[in-house]
Amino acid sequence: MISELEQFRNETLAEGLVKAIRRYDGRPVSIMEVCGTHTMAISRYGIRELLPPNVRLISGPGCPVCVTPSFYLKSALELCRRENTIVATFGDMMRIPYKGVSLLTEKALGRDIRMVYSPLDSLDIARQHPDKTVIFLSVGFETTVPVTAIAVLEAAQQGLDNFMILSANKTIPAAMHLLSSDPEVAVDGFLYPGHVSAVIGSGLYEELAKAYGIPGAVTGFDPADILGSILYVLEQIRDKKATVANLYSMVVQPGGNPIARGKIDEVFEPSDAVWRGLGQIPGSGLRLREKYRAFDAWGLINGSVEERDEEAGGCRCGDILKGKCLPSDCKLFGKICTPETPVGSCMVSSEGTCAAYYRYQ
Ligand code: SF4
Repeated sequence: MISELEQFRNETLAEGLVKAIRRYDGRPVSIMEVCGTHTMAISRYGIRELLPPNVRLISGPGCPVCVTPSFYLKSALELCRRENTIVATFGDMMRIPYKGVSLLTEKALGRDIRMVYSPLDSLDIARQHPDKTVIFLSVGFETTVPVTAIAVLEAAQQGLDNFMILSANKTIPAAMHLLSSDPEVAVDGFLYPGHVSAVIGSGLYEELAKAYGIPGAVTGFDPADILGSILYVLEQIRDKKATVANLYSMVVQPGGNPIARGKIDEVFEPSDAVWRGLGQIPGSGLRLREKYRAFDAWGLINGSVEERDEEAGGCRCGDILKGKCLPSDCKLFGKICTPETPVGSCMVSSEGTCAAYYRYQ
């Protein structure tokens, strides 16, 4: 727990950083955070409101549930209606609406859908129910994929033939390349994700900064961490430089976590993936390698669901995920669309941009 002295020190530091940021008098800039936990922290601490008008924070595709396309949910709904099937999922996925239904409404109709906190929980369910097929809805970035890989490896070692995953796992670097090169997005600087970077490392961002001339900082989640990163990016822009700072070096190493990456590489291989709002990004997805294909629940779907992403009428999640508009620019925000009655995934997920704006602004 943070001590009072520590808190005082952080507050004093944060105050100094805000003053320094407010001295920025250069051209108007947009800085994008690419991590749902940063999105929440920025809203919770009111960081946007502390910045001068020429510094804008925009949210990118940092929430894995939010970037999951609608056909994935349609597929999950089909799977949960199969005989002798248990679908296991993280809580956020339960409430994503698809044409008036969700996994939660299906559960109310009697389908066996269980909320889990880890893919390993799904493995336990599979052990307890050998007569049923247990399908884990695997949605996440590099942070959560290593544990999914471990679950698949354990299932393979133990000969569990009733455990499967439906992978919508994605990797962040390819999406960042796309955002960096998209003139419509016009990002001037990045706050790189903290948790994902702990796995992939900070070294990859050097390449990105060099290729597109966009500076950035890897940052933690305290207000002072985030403010320090914003200041670093502004100084880079002012000095016409594009380097990368790792301001979260207690957790993030340049080479990341090779053990976690090794688990991912052992079980998954890169594939093209559809991101809500961003479309198909080559090599940005993860599918099970041939050796583990028996655990792949996409085989049960077998092409019966068209790979098309559909946005609910009026929902602007896609534009929000590209940083092209704010939740308040959506006509449904806070009126028809609320956390209790979500229209799009950005309002459902605990890391979604619309949910963060609704909760704190
Ligand atoms: Fe979609 Fe709701 Fe966000 Fe509007 S407020 S973009 S409808 S999730």
